[in-house]
Amino acid sequence: MGFAGILGQERAVSLLKRAIEIDRLPHALLFTGPKGVGRFLTAITVAKALNCLNRVNGDCCDRCPACGKIAKSIHPDVHLVTPEGATVKIDQIRTLTREAPLTPYEGRGKVFILDQAETMTEQAQNALLKTLEEPPRATFLILIAPEASALLPPIVSRCSQIRFAPVPEGAVATRLREQGCEEGEATLLASLAGGSLGRAQELRKSPLSEVWDLVGQVFAFPPGRTVPVLELTEQVLRQKETVPLFLEALLVWCRDLMVSKVTRHRELLVYRNREAVLRGQSEGLALRQLLAMYRTVKQTLDGLGRYANPRLSLEVMFLTLRDLQAA
Ligand SMILES: [Zn+2]
Repeated sequence: MGFAGILGQERAVSLLKRAIEIDRLPHALLFTGPKGVGRFLTAITVAKALNCLNRVNGDCCDRCPACGKIAKSIHPDVHLVTPEGATVKIDQIRTLTREAPLTPYEGRGKVFILDQAETMTEQAQNALLKTLEEPPRATFLILIAPEASALLPPIVSRCSQIRFAPVPEGAVATRLREQGCEEGEATLLASLAGGSLGRAQELRKSPLSEVWDLVGQVFAFPPGRTVPVLELTEQVLRQKETVPLFLEALLVWCRDLMVSKVTRHRELLVYRNREAVLRGQSEGLALRQLLAMYRTVKQTLDGLGRYANPRLSLEVMFLTLRDLQAA
């Protein structure tokens, strides 16, 4: 696999491969970008490429003993630093700075990967400065953070920053299909995950079929009949952790209702495999009603993270959706 296994980050990958190939990899790297877009996998691949016994064109083989040890996190020259509790602490950085100047035990390069570097305490960041400033010849530090502003400016200025962009939805869906995901589900997951393959894979593990059933039910009642608000709320709350997912999926459903109202292009739908149901439901409703429904779900979703009582929010939302359908 090597760098070819990293999805949708061609720019970052070609920069890194080239730098490794000509032996010019910066000793302090900062990988920024949203969660789940491949920052960590890339850091591990850099560590492999530096130490691989069969390196070709700056890429690793993923088969030699060195690559194998790194994959299993047992290579003596590749160190992973992650938060202990909520933060990366000064003692962890002191261990790193003691270890950094030593020559590699068996590989070509010593690599320290600081995942969630933004959780470093201020003292920890200050303790890291000297090592970042004068990195030992065979030592490489890779800091991973959502954005540069999450770290102290002196840290950022000593690192070469590599930005990781969200992955295009089409590429996420293709990768999910390669992993055995059915087409409709792959498209939907990619859309819900907003350019993060990691998030899409997490979503895939959640009890999705139940969520889809519930989404379908919200609009499945003939006009004039009351949506059974309390029953639906009960069903959604049965698995509390999937409430945000339910709302995101419902939001996509509302979006698809609008799309199917204004165009016949099936490929524009996220829920392509439910096209007939969407057509049926959107026919009975005006675009302004659909837009108001979309806004209602969006508001509920936004409110959920902040302050809202999930039960009350869901009940109010279902009631509003019912009234909007009747309006
Ligand atoms: Zn190898």
